[in-house]
Parts: sequence; structure tokens; C-alpha cells
Amino acid sequence: LSISFRGKVPELNASKGYGIFAHSPTAAVLSQAYPILAPRHDGAWLVEPIFPWGDAVVAAVADYSARVTLPTGWSLVATGEETQTASGVYLVEGENLRELVLVALRGYQETSVEAGEVLVRGYFLPGHREAGEAALEVTAQALLLYSRLFGPYPFPELDVVEVPLKGAAGVEYPGLILAGETYLERYPADPLFFTMIFAHEVAHQWWYAQVGNDQVAEPWLDEALTTYSSGLYFESVGMFADILSYWQASYQRGRARNPTATVASPLWEFPDGAGYGGIVYSGGALFLHEVRLRMGDTAFLRGLRRYLEEYRWRIATGRDLLSILREESPTPLEDIIQEWLGTGYKQEVSASAPNP
Ligand SMILES: [Zn+2]
Repeated sequence: LSISFRGKVPELNASKGYGIFAHSPTAAVLSQAYPILAPRHDGAWLVEPIFPWGDAVVAAVADYSARVTLPTGWSLVATGEETQTASGVYLVEGENLRELVLVALRGYQETSVEAGEVLVRGYFLPGHREAGEAALEVTAQALLLYSRLFGPYPFPELDVVEVPLKGAAGVEYPGLILAGETYLERYPADPLFFTMIFAHEVAHQWWYAQVGNDQVAEPWLDEALTTYSSGLYFESVGMFADILSYWQASYQRGRARNPTATVASPLWEFPDGAGYGGIVYSGGALFLHEVRLRMGDTAFLRGLRRYLEEYRWRIATGRDLLSILREESPTPLEDIIQEWLGTGYKQEVSASAPNP
């Protein structure tokens, strides 16, 4: 099948959403810029509407190969591995990518650190060197921690790219993280939030890039796991109490803005994104914290490792995660599940089970 298409990348201020399909004088981000095949799931096409809040891509992983030609003075960063083959011409190749993003940059500085076998490369504006180094440090430490706790990081590189974003602090792609320019500009103000951006987006390399989910119907699945994983990073640096009280306050604010939505609500139950971050991210993390306390650390982490192992490169559902946690838990979790996720995730009782 061959599709030919043309597109025009809008100027950042005229663009809709987070500015992830937009250009500015120093950066052009081409995200969701090509036709992407809807995945097949349980014998049907999985096609969801697109909302201006939350994440839109529901996709199977694929192997990508792209040839990119840029104007003079621009250089390319992308998901997968980029090789410059001639002046302004790049070959991008990657395996098991849930989507492809291309970022063209002008006047940036490149820096890198090693996280075990993985090369973490950073692209920052010249004035943001110190913030960029702090960002790469959190990124590398979080990558090592999650590799140890959950399973290996699956790509040879991880790129961290500063770009101007609107209404988002960071955005995740397979092997690539976008970080909002504003937050690097403000560094070292608000160290908790600054750290959270990178600890969060790195965790999406496990919960989104590796284990996919329907980000529109079940956004909590990757966001709750990712937010809770960032909490494990804060725990590793002695700041768990800080992140726990951040989640509690953020969840209360979310509930006040949107009293009818729950952690497990689909994107369309958060009109204009009202309460979305507080309820789905922070509430989702509080839910997983209760699950962890009930299960104990060993069983909880065994459950997350099994979830990664069984659903890596696939699309999982909330029921898939919950059935693994139920199986690994030494004691029942039903009261916690129903309190936080509602009755939609009740345990399915098999037809042959005897009546009580
Ligand atoms: Zn996220």
C-alpha cells in the first residue's frame, strides 16, 4: 500500500494542542504528521476520536524507515536512530516504535551522558546549559532505576529535546522526550516539578512505548503507572513524602474541578481537560500506592514486571493489568479497585463458579 500526501506545518502560535505539530524560529516538531494505521484489537479496528487534551495516539508498534531532507542550518533528532547521509539529508530507522516523531532544530547545543549501555542525548538552547545538564542527570538516573525495577530499557538511545510547548510540560515518544522550553528557562525554580517532568516522561518508555494502551478510552493505564513510577524515582532520592503530598493536593483540586470523573474515566469525561491531570495522574498514582501497600513491595513489583513481560510491544487493557495484580497479590484488592476505578473493573466471575 502506498499513500502520497502533503502537509503544511503551522506556526506555533497558530497551531492547536501542545505545539507538537508546529514550527518556531528554532524548532519544528512533526508529531502525528503522517497517516498511521489503526491497530487491530480483539478482532476489531481500534479507532478513537481525537481530543485537544490528553494523548491521541492509539497504535501498534512498527519498524520505521524515513529519509528526511532539511533546509540548510537545521539538524534532525528523531525516534529511532538518525544517520546523516549527506548535507541536510538523514536516514531514520527504528524497530518497535509506537510512532515516529521528527524534530528539526536550529542553533541548539548537544550534550550527552551514559546510563549503563544507553546513550542519553540532550538538545538544549545555548542559554539553558545548566538546566539541560540537570535534566539529563534525572533522565539517566530514572532510566537506570526503572530498568532495575521493571525490565530493560529497549532502545539504544534516549533523546531529550527542549522545544516550545503549549499546555504541556513534556511529551513522550519511543526513545525521545520533548521538554517544554518554559521549564528549562525557569530552572532552578520549582525543583519538584522540574524533576517530575523527566522522571515522568522516562517512565513512559515502559508504560506507553513498550506496553501500549488505548490512551483515549483508558488514559489512566499508562498515566497512573508512569506517575507512580516517577514516585519510585522520588522515593529513591528520599523525596517520597514530597511527591505523595503533591499527588494528594493535586487530586483534591482535580476532584473539585470535575466531581463526576474518576481515575478510570475516558478522555471524553474531562471536558476541556478539566481535572484530568489531578484525577487521572495524581489519583491514579494514589490508587497504585494503596495497591502497593496492600500487596507489599515484592509482590507489587513482581506484578509490574509480569505486566511488562506479557504485554511488551502489545496493547494492554486495564483489565489485563488488574488481573495480574490480583493474581500476584497475597490478599484481595477488590475494595481498593472499586473505590478508585468504580464498578467498571469488577472482577469477572467465571460461569462455572458456584453461587455463594
Ligand atoms: Zn504522561
